Amino acid sequence: MPDCIFCRIAAGGIPASIVYQDDRIVAFRDLHPQAPVHLLLIPRRHMTNLAAAEAGDAALLGELLIAASRLAVSEGVSESGYRVVANTHRDGGQSVDHLHFHLLGGRALSWPPG
Ligand code: AMP
Repeated sequence: MPDCIFCRIAAGGIPASIVYQDDRIVAFRDLHPQAPVHLLLIPRRHMTNLAAAEAGDAALLGELLIAASRLAVSEGVSESGYRVVANTHRDGGQSVDHLHFHLLGGRALSWPPG
């Protein structure tokens, strides 16, 4: 998807502060962090959001969540706590149409979200 900003980040065409990558996923720091730790984890393959996920994507989604768990450790928030969020479609507040999990931590996060 040439116009997709996260596809371009995954391909190295747009700079990002990448904290982890492998052949299937990339994790980088959010440009506008909402918490001391705010990472985005994306599949390299374009997928619009969770609503577009299919049964065959189960392993990839699991890899993203395991990566989030490991990054929470390396970012120092695994024990203090963190939140993993996938904003989906309009009411979910999704602004970039490439599946991404936010990993937020480093401060107390309120609940319920606004
Ligand atoms: P969402 O609103 O859930 O779709 O999240 C999209 C996130 O992408 C927002 O938190 C933005 O700050 C972040 N974002 C947009 N463009 C970039 C970029 N070039 N590099 C890093 N984060 C970005």
